Amino acid sequence: MISKTEAVALRVDPFSRTSLLVSWLTREHGRLVTLAKGAHRPRSGFRGQIDAFYTCEILFYSASRSGLSTLKECAAINPRESLRQNIRASVSASYLCDLVQRLTPPGAPQEALYAFLSSVLDVLCEPRIDVASRLLHWTELRLMGLLGMAPRFDRCTACGRRGGPDEPLNIISVPRGGVICAQCLPTAEEPFFPLDRGAMAILKTWQITADTGPAYRLVCSPKQRAGIERALGALLTYHLDCSPGRQIALSLLP
Ligand SMILES: [Zn+2]
Repeated sequence: MISKTEAVALRVDPFSRTSLLVSWLTREHGRLVTLAKGAHRPRSGFRGQIDAFYTCEILFYSASRSGLSTLKECAAINPRESLRQNIRASVSASYLCDLVQRLTPPGAPQEALYAFLSSVLDVLCEPRIDVASRLLHWTELRLMGLLGMAPRFDRCTACGRRGGPDEPLNIISVPRGGVICAQCLPTAEEPFFPLDRGAMAILKTWQITADTGPAYRLVCSPKQRAGIERALGALLTYHLDCSPGRQIALSLLP
């Protein structure tokens, strides 16, 4: 069956001397991998139309038994060239695309994830020097939520107790995937990460913030960001086998 759709290129790899393997995220078909035969040939219609972070209109034949679809036509709609001028934004975009590629099952529709990925890649194109660092951890948290793997922050993950003003829930248990109360902490398995109230409030706000604008405007102190970075990193590693690309992205942040 042949299908036409809009798609964001997550990753482009050589397949042979002349062909490319391209991983895409689409709304209707979710994540898919296509073979772009002859893409490196001088007269190929694919030349200049495919690269990582591009949004393209693609025409493809659905997957064969090998799991590969065949790319028939591809036209770049939004190449996001300015993203390539900013190393921090570019590395953050690579990390995000890698997470999407590794955590998204193939084939299932991904309407919300597609909108999220497109909006983050678009905002990373903007010439704001701190855009990558301000959005990185919000992006990780949002992505976990969109894929049904959101950490639980509203109740103790052991006893179900809700926190209150005198009993804040601000210790994250990594094995339990969310907060744990002081009573349950002595029996909790390690590792766990205490955060200050401000950092916990930021995580809760990020989890329900769908748009890049409000996420960008929420500023963390360096101490809060360091705590969030460690806690989210441990959750991603423990539950999702976090990409090594995270360390590269973090090392480039100011
Ligand atoms: Zn508890």
